[in-house]
Amino acid sequence: MILIPAKRAYTSTIPERTLAWLAYTAPAMKLIRIVCLLSLVAFCSATLLAQNSFTVGTATAAAGQKATGTLEVPAGVDAATSIPVVVVRGNKSGPVLALVSGAHGTEYASIIALEKVIQSLDPTQVSGTVIILPLVNIASFEQKVPHVNPVDGKSMNRFYPGKQDGTQTERVSYAITKQVVERCDYLVDYHGGDIDENLRPYSYWPKSGDAKHDAITRDMVLAFGLDHIIVWSDRPKDPAASRYLDNTANTRGKPAIAVEAGYSGTVQTDDVALLANGTLSLMRYLKTLPGAPAMVEHPVWLGKVDTVTSDQPGIFYPVVQRGTYVEAGMKIGYVTDYFGKTIYEAHAPAAGVVLYICGVPSMKKGDTVANIGEITTNP
Ligand SMILES: [Zn+2]
Repeated sequence: MILIPAKRAYTSTIPERTLAWLAYTAPAMKLIRIVCLLSLVAFCSATLLAQNSFTVGTATAAAGQKATGTLEVPAGVDAATSIPVVVVRGNKSGPVLALVSGAHGTEYASIIALEKVIQSLDPTQVSGTVIILPLVNIASFEQKVPHVNPVDGKSMNRFYPGKQDGTQTERVSYAITKQVVERCDYLVDYHGGDIDENLRPYSYWPKSGDAKHDAITRDMVLAFGLDHIIVWSDRPKDPAASRYLDNTANTRGKPAIAVEAGYSGTVQTDDVALLANGTLSLMRYLKTLPGAPAMVEHPVWLGKVDTVTSDQPGIFYPVVQRGTYVEAGMKIGYVTDYFGKTIYEAHAPAAGVVLYICGVPSMKKGDTVANIGEITTNP
């Protein structure tokens, strides 16, 4: 039992001088108390705001906000670069979804699709957070250089998880690994046919062997809505040598997929819509947007991809289109010398669908003529 002394007995022991001092300081104490209270409220609000906001690079979005900024990659052995980043912070809690496009800066439809997504997302409708990097390879985009980053000649989707002291591509990959991949829960990497690739839309299902993880990524490709899906089961398993962006996320336990649409430098409405609407459908599957996703009901699973390369340099003529279904042995194109004499004929090594075929006459020895996807009924 705790004995509490009677109040009167207690106050009666305070000397009169103390009482006079208390009376004198009471208004000041009240003021101090109010100031302290206000400071506490301000501190708590700032803390809550900090807890509620999400920052990537220089972009900080509070709940219900869409913020823009840049991911600064400082100069090293070569030039610095500054990658645009958007953070959409929902009013309600939910997962962090990362959307990354333009590792290949001339796969235009995928870049424009994310520009549309940036405009269409309303933070008040979003649950969780969306990080959007619409254009990773700015030098490729500005200089119209396909496949690589012209600063160091490297593909910006082959050097993950990157290196802090490497060339620009490796430093960018490192920054994205640290600031985007490690902080997200799900990721989508957007690609398409490059300037020289006549491509039909498809996505990749990265089958890792982990049944729980694979069930989520399988649902993600179905929710995204592209009906031709490559089953990719031989991606590197080592997180320290993940090479590809989606694989960098998957090897770190974050379900990720890659999607492709667009071809030959074009920005077709259909391709942009496939990627933009696919993103919104995937967000509905992840419950980051209200509504039900539109899942692919009858996917065409592609168990193996055959790459046909030219064994001669010269002028390439395709004889099939992107998306054409071919039988094994069918002629898909040919190469002539500069006098018009046929010096090489390309044939499909197996039955399947032409995922993409070279879209320009330029052909070097060893260049890709086409990628053929072999259909599997048992993915
Ligand atoms: Zn690409």
